[in-house]
Amino acid sequence: MTPQLESRLPHVGTTIFTVMSQLANAHRAINLSQGFPDFSPPAGLIERMVHHVQHSNQQYAPMAGAPILREAIAEKVERLYGRSYHPDTEVTVTAGATQALTTAITACVRPGDEVIVFAPVYDSYAPAIELNGGKVISSTLQFPSYQPNWQEVRTLISPRTRMIILNTPHNPTGTVWSSDDMQALSDLVKDTNIILLADEVYEHMSFDGAKHLSLARYPDLAERAFVVSSFGKTYHVTGWKIAYCVAPAELMKEFRKSHQFITFCIHHPSQLALADFMRHEPEFADTLSAFYQEKRDGFRALMKETKFELLPCAGTYFQLARYTQISDESDQDFARRMTMQYGVAVIPVSAFYPEGDDHHVVRFCFAKNQSTMDAALERLLKI
Ligand code: PMP
Ligand code: GLN
Repeated sequence: MTPQLESRLPHVGTTIFTVMSQLANAHRAINLSQGFPDFSPPAGLIERMVHHVQHSNQQYAPMAGAPILREAIAEKVERLYGRSYHPDTEVTVTAGATQALTTAITACVRPGDEVIVFAPVYDSYAPAIELNGGKVISSTLQFPSYQPNWQEVRTLISPRTRMIILNTPHNPTGTVWSSDDMQALSDLVKDTNIILLADEVYEHMSFDGAKHLSLARYPDLAERAFVVSSFGKTYHVTGWKIAYCVAPAELMKEFRKSHQFITFCIHHPSQLALADFMRHEPEFADTLSAFYQEKRDGFRALMKETKFELLPCAGTYFQLARYTQISDESDQDFARRMTMQYGVAVIPVSAFYPEGDDHHVVRFCFAKNQSTMDAALERLLKI
């Protein structure tokens, strides 16, 4: 007899990204739901990967990551954000940003601790907090600007607040935090023991000349922060599941205590390939914002001909759109109908709210070839 198991995550179903991608595949819809590019990674990176699979070490990498990659990460972060992280003690390579985020949460959050998040919130944070016995305290970004309400955040801080998790550029809204937001955050955490966890996987995708404000730029924030980025996003290789976390040595020491027993170490040839590529083509990441801005602009121009109402998009590769001129269905129903009836899959934004708030907004991923966008538009014009 199978033992009865009381769920540790009773409110959690299958992640919306899997649900919508499966529905898209089942109905042969154009998949603009789950966030991944449909174009190739840079040829130079693939060449390095093939090289290292054929010629390099195929055994366990060092637990914290291949030294050559940790050095490349530290160099990049210092070049872009001016903070020096020591590759030996302050940089760890992880199996995707999801693992880095969950590991940072696991390292810090004890039963009864409170963790402040901003809703709409990326769907992996709350389950990771809850699995560690923590309590999710959600501050709602103000609709439709999706700006943080700092006054509200202040009221949510308590002696039990262990951590604040932020994400800029932000999935799903495409907003980016300003220097005023950073100042507000800094004022809030000053003289507290609160740890920051910055999800910066879209660090190379901010538009219209905006600089990405990494927490690594701000000494008073960086000294209490884990900063996470993902090679999957930056190099069009989401399936490689490889990312990194940087943090001051004391925090990183605790992070690694968990990391070593969650994955131990990461796919070795990918690390060597990424290190080579980062050294040989550092400009690749620097040109990514311009690359995606062109895609954003192209997609927005096409979408103007439809009945969707586009919200601003300052970063990431996601575009939000309101569909109130089309339907008053819930966003979940509408997203399903778009997929099954019209053949374009999107993400209902209510999936990112703990209470399922529904502003009749769906998310499109524009990390796609022009031909994919054109084919999608043909279908969207019929809605
Ligand atoms: N955080 C955010 C905001 C994301 O959009 C994603 C999806 N890529 C992740 C974390 C997870 O990244 P990874 O695929 O590297 O695990
Ligand atoms: N981050 C991606 C998105 O927002 C999905 C990643 C995943 O499927 N876990 O679409």
